[in-house]
Formats: sequence, C-alpha cells, structure tokens
Amino acid sequence: MTSAPPRAPLEERRIPDVVVPPPGPRSREILERQEKLLYPGLSEELAPLVVHRKLGYAVEDVDGNVFLDMASASASVPLGAGREDLLAPAIEALRRYGNEDSHALPSELMLPLAERLLSIAPRNLSRVDIALNGTEAVEIALKFMRRATGRQIVIGFFGQYHGESTTTATLGAERRDISKGLRQLSPGFLHVPYPNAYRSPFGSPRPGGTGDATVDYLRDQVLFHAVDPEEVAGVIIEPVVGSGGTLVPSEAFWRALEELCREFGWLLCADEVKSGFGRTGTMFAVEHWNVEPDLMCLGKAMGGGVMPIGAVLGSERAIGGFDDVPTGSTWAWLPGSCAAALATLDAFERDDVLGNVKAIEAAAVEGLGSLKEKYDVIGDIRVKGAYLSVEFVKDRETKERAPELQDAVARACLERGLIADSSTTSYNIQPSLVTPVEVIRQAVEIVDDAIASVV
Ligand code: PMP
Repeated sequence: MTSAPPRAPLEERRIPDVVVPPPGPRSREILERQEKLLYPGLSEELAPLVVHRKLGYAVEDVDGNVFLDMASASASVPLGAGREDLLAPAIEALRRYGNEDSHALPSELMLPLAERLLSIAPRNLSRVDIALNGTEAVEIALKFMRRATGRQIVIGFFGQYHGESTTTATLGAERRDISKGLRQLSPGFLHVPYPNAYRSPFGSPRPGGTGDATVDYLRDQVLFHAVDPEEVAGVIIEPVVGSGGTLVPSEAFWRALEELCREFGWLLCADEVKSGFGRTGTMFAVEHWNVEPDLMCLGKAMGGGVMPIGAVLGSERAIGGFDDVPTGSTWAWLPGSCAAALATLDAFERDDVLGNVKAIEAAAVEGLGSLKEKYDVIGDIRVKGAYLSVEFVKDRETKERAPELQDAVARACLERGLIADSSTTSYNIQPSLVTPVEVIRQAVEIVDDAIASVV
C-alpha cells in the first residue's frame, strides 16, 4: 500500500478540506482489496472512502481528506465523535466488569440505567427490557405486542425503516429491496400509507370521520373490508420518519390513532430508535404531541455513539403480565454499554443539547427553505430538529421523483466535503445534535453550490 501522508492533528485541519477527489488512491486501494474479501452487498452507501479518524463533526479519510459529517453514523452519534466524557466511563466499565451476559448475571449498572430511562420516558411506561441494538429492540417489541394481546397482526406504515433482520425487514416498508424474498416468510404485517403531507394518496379527511385521512382509511377501508380489529395486536410507528425522509404526522393523526387503539385494545408502539434521544428537539419524538405509547423501542444514540445498546420500554399491560417470552442476545446491556448510556444521559442533562437541536432546526428551515425558492428541482424541504431532508423531483407539479439528480447532488456535495445520506427517497442530512449552527449554515451553502453545479 502507498505510504500514509504526514498528518496534522484533526483539530488543526480546516473542515472540510478535500485534497484529492474521493476515492483517493489509498481509499481506492483498500476498497478494491475489500471487494474481493467481503460480502459484495456491503456497499459504501454514503461515500466511496475509508475512514482514518473522526472528531466531533469531522471525518478524515485515509487520503487526508476532511469532510463535514452530516450523517453521524446513521444518526447514532448524538454528541459528536471522540467524546472523552462518554469514552472514559465506558472504558472504565469494560475494565472493571468485563463482558457479562446481562440476562444471566446483572451488573450493578443495569438498575440505575433502567431507572434513568423510565424517569425521562412517557409516564405510563413502567418496565424495561434490554436489547443489543435497535433491530433487536423492535424484534422484542413485536413479540411483546403479540404475547400481551394474543393477536398476531401488526400494522406498519409505508416509508418506515425498522431494521434488516427477517422480521424487522418485513415490518419495515421503506424500500422494497429490503424485504425482497422475505415477506412471505414473516407474515402478519399490514402496511398503510404513513401520514405524509407531501405525498399522501388521500384527499382531505372525510366530513364526520376521524379528522385524519390515514385513520379514516384504516377504519373505512381496512377494518371494514379486510381485517377484524380483534385480530390486530397494534401499530408500530416511527413518530417522525427518519431514514425515509423526515415525515412528521399532524396532531389530528395522533389523536385519531390513539382513539383507534383505545377502541380496539391495540397496543401503540413507538419506534424511537432513530428519533429518540433528542434527534427531533425533544428527548423522545412522541413528546411533541403528548402521545403515551404502550411500548417504545430505543437504540442508536442511546449509547452516545460509543457503545451499542438498545431497549424496549413498556407499560404493565405490554410487558408486565408474563415472563415466558425469551428476548434478546448475549451482548445486550453489556456493562460498558450501560456506562456509555448513563454518561450520555448525564450529558443531555448537563448540556443544552436540545437547545442546540432547536437552533439547528431554525437554521435549516431558513437555509434549506431558501434553496427551495431558488431551485425548481426541490419538491419539498422537511426539517424536524436535526432531521433535515431535501426531496428532489423532476417536476413540481407531478412530483415525479428524481433519484439520479439526488445522487448527482450527493456526489457534488461529497466532492465539496459534505457527507450525507442519499440512499433513500430524499437527501437526508442528519448531523450530530451538538453541531454548531454555523456549521449547519456551511453545509447548506455546500448543498446550494452542489445543486447549482448539476442543474
Ligand atoms: N428502527 C429505526 C427507526 C431505525 O432507523 C433503525 C436503524 N436505522 C432501526 C430500527 C434498526 O436499528 P439498528 O440498525 O441500530 O439495529
């Protein structure tokens, strides 16, 4: 391999600073060798480069390029990379407790973490189950919903992502390739359109209905023609859709959905794996509408971007009434992960993280909003907290999607030093929650320049 160039500490580098168009020669060499060894389905979804180090919101590749990190490891690094205040307690716990299967032998960190989570969660949530990550949390929540109700059908929404294990891939319906070949193997899911203000297949809610077109559709169509509500265990919803492009339901939707769940004894499960821990400007996204779900799935940012950890929080009805559902896996709530999660909660309590998310939101609404006025190829701009999405269209009238254009913009952004996510229906910018607003403005300028270069 070519020898590494001498490097200045990342703290001293300009951000961004692209010295060679990605992939540079060292990245290219590693990626070519990797390609021969690794599963071919592992693509460099975000960018064709190999990471050398990260700090805060900066990523440096092995070629010495420095990028603005506007993906934050799929929104799993809430407080920036290389945080000593999170790393030190995790490392100390790894030294002290080693690895332990917390299903078999609880460490003394388990109870304080469960108590802390419940103390900040919606009030009706009174129990915790442990998970390794978001995927496992969703798998567990599904088992609980079916066990607690004795019913099998679970309703999900188009556009949602829940993971890529067989069950979570088929519960999800973000992109059809994620569940290809699996759907028949994991039955029991029924999907309806997410309350998507930009691309709703419905008109206005009907007079005398629930007040929301999606819930009208559920009641008037699905439950009338196809499914007995007594067969339904409940609904799993991303309270704000993340990977699928910042979709934000209305107040009317939530009230109508709650009423539906109440009427038929359905459990309402919020998948807060991505939206939880501050991403949308409140600790949990359901707080925006005072929704009290029966279950809540957590993961990603819970471990501060330092260690993997997930959880399922539930009401007594959802989790408390049985002990015969095996859940989880060996590394769930590894003591080092519990320490990282506790330190993350400390940081949220100590620092005004949520205040910064609100500042990011305001800067993004203004900055991206002005891009929408400038470029016809932008069909919609959606911002909720530090979830920022730009949806490209061929025509504003028809709203036909423009994935090639989106990819070209993403490529142009990368060449200018910005890493964000173009793998789905919109260009998603998901920075860490402590990213300074000036940096968000800088990112918007790069997007502006990138669009101008391709339209
Ligand atoms: N649920 C949601 C809403 C997610 O966004 C994700 C990951 N993108 C998952 C579940 C799965 O989490 P993980 O990949 O960390 O296991």
